[in-house]
Amino acid sequence: MARLVMKFGGTSVADLDRIRNVARHVKREVDAGHEVAVVVSAMAGQTNTLVGYCRDAAPLHDAREYDAVVASGEQVTSGLLAIALQEMGVNARSWQGWQIPIRTDESHGAARIREIDGAVLIERLKQGQVAVVAGFQGLAPDNRISTLGRGGSDTSAVAIAAAIQADRCDIYTDVDGVYTTDPRIVPKARRLDRIAFEEMLEMASLGAKVLQVRSVEMAMVHGVRTFVRSSFDDPDAPQTGKDGLPPGTLICDEDELVEQQVVTGIAFAKDEAQISIRNVADKPGVAASVFGPLSDANINVDMIVQNISPDGKTTDITFTVPESEYDRALKVLEDRREAIGFAALEGARDVVKVSVIGIGMRSHAGVAAQCFRGLAEKGINIRAITTSEIKISVLIDSAYTELAVRTLHSLYGLDG
Ligand code: ADP
Ligand code: ASP
Ligand code: MG
Repeated sequence: MARLVMKFGGTSVADLDRIRNVARHVKREVDAGHEVAVVVSAMAGQTNTLVGYCRDAAPLHDAREYDAVVASGEQVTSGLLAIALQEMGVNARSWQGWQIPIRTDESHGAARIREIDGAVLIERLKQGQVAVVAGFQGLAPDNRISTLGRGGSDTSAVAIAAAIQADRCDIYTDVDGVYTTDPRIVPKARRLDRIAFEEMLEMASLGAKVLQVRSVEMAMVHGVRTFVRSSFDDPDAPQTGKDGLPPGTLICDEDELVEQQVVTGIAFAKDEAQISIRNVADKPGVAASVFGPLSDANINVDMIVQNISPDGKTTDITFTVPESEYDRALKVLEDRREAIGFAALEGARDVVKVSVIGIGMRSHAGVAAQCFRGLAEKGINIRAITTSEIKISVLIDSAYTELAVRTLHSLYGLDG
């Protein structure tokens, strides 16, 4: 007997038929003798609709009321799944974030989980009751509902798995695992049987939205074995395959990886924007005068390129910010034009960051050079570059996204 958390995303609970299908997956595990806690997302598209209502009601709305509105999607699906399970003769009860409670910090709209007392859930599980928990939501210190940021149900699931000491956290979604890149963009993408926590963390933070970044962080910190699989598999099919699990991807420690490639995957993020400051004085303190005010305004700067000054007097600085912060960042800099001292401010929204990820890069030289050569051969211009031990990111025109991702995918031998 094992203790499992089973998480189902929006497409998996998109209507009543799919909720019944989810109930069959849950019943299978209960019938096998496991203790089961389930975490559900809102029906596909529902959170977008609710976010839209808030925006239409007032563009600058109160974040606490935003949370009250957008958390409602998960309230509906948790109740409906409990009903569907009861209808199949499975003992089940729904739980809202505040009822457990899932305590978060005060950052309404993008709250972090601080603490979950698993005792009540464990008690119910031991009595043979399935706990159906509404994902994405928690209780803030002001005693109001909070939400965990888009895609946050993944984090709810992993956090609950850690709190109830689950043997595994199964993430059921609309693809049957983590692929070498987004299978919607590259049909030749391959499913990975295993991926290391660290690589998954990079993939998620660099744009692979299959898991929310914080869920991977939490899985890594608490050592939660996380398994990504499809909710569209036949719920009654035998659950055997590699590692005794059906098709899917196990996110695990590096030393559990069986085969190690130099490059594991390619990710891309379209929500970046580029800003270039032309002809700033090339003297100490200039970078601080640009990035200090941006940081004071809570704007995250990601890639930074500073050119060597041709004349020893002025230089150009290029960097990226989240696209949602682009207008604000330009204004912050324009307001300080005199203090910083620059000739022109330029920018572009139609850019994409493409990243190559793999822990094998630590011990292999030449991966970056190969990337630059591959893109050059396709006539793709690189606007900025950043690297770390296990990833290389390049900023390019967004029109070349698919070409760049496909080119790199075959270049590193990832095509299936
Ligand atoms: P859910 O609603 O179940 O949380 P999401 O839409 O959040 O599902 O995440 C699943 C989607 O993530 C897939 O449909 C796929 O298009 C996308 N995705 C992006 N990168 C990858 C990747 N490397 N592997 C698998 N899926 C990916
Ligand atoms: N329903 C929320 C969203 O769409 C949370 C989730 O699905 O993970 O962002
Ligand atoms: Mg998701």
